Amino acid sequence: MGNCSYDALIVGGGPAGATAALGLAQCGWRVCLLHRAQPRASVHARTGETLPSASRATLRALGLWSTFLQDGHVPSPGTVAWWDAENPIEQDSVFDPWGPAWHIDRWRFDHRLREAAAVAGAEVLDGLRLVDAQRLTAARASGAACWSASLRDETRTVPVRARVLIVATGRGRHPVACGGRRGRLDRLIGLAALVPAGEPLASVDQRIWIEATPEGWWYSAPTPGGPWTITFFTDADRVPREKGRDGISRYWREQFLGSQQTKQRIAHLTSFAPMLGTVTMPGALRVFAADSYRSAACHGPGWMAAGDAVSAWDPLSGQGIENALQSGSRVARAVHAILQGGDAGAICRDYADEVEARDGQYRRDRSAYYGRVQRWPDAVFWRRRTRQDQ
Ligand SMILES: Cc1cc2nc3c(=O)[nH]c(=O)nc-3n(C[C@H](O)[C@H](O)[C@H](O)COP(=O)(O)OP(=O)(O)OC[C@H]3O[C@@H](n4cnc5c(N)ncnc54)[C@H](O)[C@@H]3O)c2cc1C
Repeated sequence: MGNCSYDALIVGGGPAGATAALGLAQCGWRVCLLHRAQPRASVHARTGETLPSASRATLRALGLWSTFLQDGHVPSPGTVAWWDAENPIEQDSVFDPWGPAWHIDRWRFDHRLREAAAVAGAEVLDGLRLVDAQRLTAARASGAACWSASLRDETRTVPVRARVLIVATGRGRHPVACGGRRGRLDRLIGLAALVPAGEPLASVDQRIWIEATPEGWWYSAPTPGGPWTITFFTDADRVPREKGRDGISRYWREQFLGSQQTKQRIAHLTSFAPMLGTVTMPGALRVFAADSYRSAACHGPGWMAAGDAVSAWDPLSGQGIENALQSGSRVARAVHAILQGGDAGAICRDYADEVEARDGQYRRDRSAYYGRVQRWPDAVFWRRRTRQDQ
């Protein structure tokens, strides 16, 4: 590490943090991007995520579209959903002006964003984590107010100072006490299995399949590199916990066997079919928090937040990554204006109004999507969403 004094310290190197770092570094500010390094395997196996087609414009604006095209992400020709009726609703990317959505290699995608930030001049710190951040008043800082933060890895503690703190910790712990309390809309979780593909990708349907069932909904899609992701989304309290991970696996399998379309789709994957008769899962079953929430604040004295650190959306929306990219760019513009001496209060209020409007729209959309499913009026999962949201 060189000089430990920055204009902006950004905590979290996902899409929101990396995009904020890129934007600010391009404006010439001294930026430190703190990234808690994760092994490729753990991120790659996150769940299998899809980037919406409209992100093409966002990546173009960031100067990353041509790199994206070379990185082996798999185009998705469309979506087929068994949602509010037994007949499928099909959406073909041929009719989308932006072209296909993309099944992305999430590790590579995030890595490219951080790489671009580093090329633009940001200092990207892998492996150090933020352990403490205190805002010093102008008097205590012997100059302008700033943040005094401690970064740590196994061997050392590194003190840094920064004029502005950007919180982009995703669903992780919020480093600023008043920003973290969350208003949760639900307790959605994703139970994700990665299943080795038995057929070459080119010979199978590569669309996203979504299937509603009385207990929740299934998402299945190929991922770059071969395996398929088969994820069941339900509420945390619907999963029997008493038998630990075996109980979760058994629940996943019961739900899988009770599905109509998802089971049909996956059954032909030769390496998976024999395992259906046992409780043994194909590789580890991963459990992800996927609840929709809104943090208590998106800014405060000397700090702003971006991406999932502000609000997290249901994976059904397929908009989380795009939202994080846009939110990171938006915060970069706001912080740039503040660092130039703009009226921080007014800039932050504008940002908060935009967050409010975007989140309000998300909540209305979420309500409308879930509200369409009236097939199981007595099922707890759907009753919660239709009653609570109406
Ligand atoms: C099961 C599931 C499926 C999803 N599917 C999709 C999908 O198909 N399409 C889509 O668009 N979105 C999807 N999403 C949403 C998407 O993953 C998120 O919206 C997106 O990753 C948010 O980006 P972010 O940068 O805000 O946070 P993240 O991507 O979570 O990045 C935050 C980073 O900060 C790091 N961090 C946290 N705390 C610290 C700390 N103290 N110090 C240093 N680093 C720290 C974390 O390790 C992480 O790398 C899904 C989410 C879930 C849970």
